[in-house]
Amino acid sequence: MIELQNISAAYGVTPVLHGVSLRADASTFLGLIGRNGAGKTTTLRSMVGLMPLAAGRVLFDGQPLAGRATHEIARLGIAYVPENRGVFPSLTVMESLTLAARPPANGATGWTLERVLDVFPRLGERRRNRSDALSGGEQQMLAIGRALLTNPRLLILDEPTEGLAPLIVREIQSVLRSLRGSGMALIVVDQNLDTVFNVADEIAVMSRGTVVAQGPSATLRADQALLNHYLGV
Ligand code: ATP
Repeated sequence: MIELQNISAAYGVTPVLHGVSLRADASTFLGLIGRNGAGKTTTLRSMVGLMPLAAGRVLFDGQPLAGRATHEIARLGIAYVPENRGVFPSLTVMESLTLAARPPANGATGWTLERVLDVFPRLGERRRNRSDALSGGEQQMLAIGRALLTNPRLLILDEPTEGLAPLIVREIQSVLRSLRGSGMALIVVDQNLDTVFNVADEIAVMSRGTVVAQGPSATLRADQALLNHYLGV
């Protein structure tokens, strides 16, 4: 489904990614972990056309994404929720959700407003509130709900549980877990390793701008030496 082939990228003259290779097949839930500054966010940004590549390429369903604008990449079926959630402060919850909605590609039954409100009942209670009046957890639910309403084939989440209360973290983890097997693929980055291990069935470890390990979640979770070496846990 998505494949990064040896990509390199820099902020100005500072190289940040050094030959990242990574792939996620359809239906895979991939977690990306690594210390602060390892290049996780930059890797996600490179998948959605927000980071110019110095080398390498990104393929989605075998098609190179080079030269495509972010909105075109979205239309191909990739939804991206950035770390700051990207909610529009002055829109109400309902306005944000209805604006995002896009039917699934092949006429299949996909995400509808009803289904999103079913998964996140809190958004229904807050439907008339402006997005900037929501708590951090509610904003994250809105950002995820809005992304789901575009009926993506790949959902990319940057730090979906960062800074949220433990109860909300568990709620978001359980919603994300419930999306497994729905046919959609997911790529998630989170400082909260519990979220990544809970949600992802496959894990890639990044260090200093490159992927140093990739494998099944259960295998990497049990590899104390690797986690200690690359994450200090
Ligand atoms: P974090 O969890 O801290 O966000 P990360 O693994 O997601 O870490 P990136 O955000 O991709 O890492 O950052 C990789 C490197 O690029 C870091 O050294 C960071 O300081 C640098 N960097 C990130 N954004 C910029 C920017 N806009 N301009 C310059 N350097 C940047």
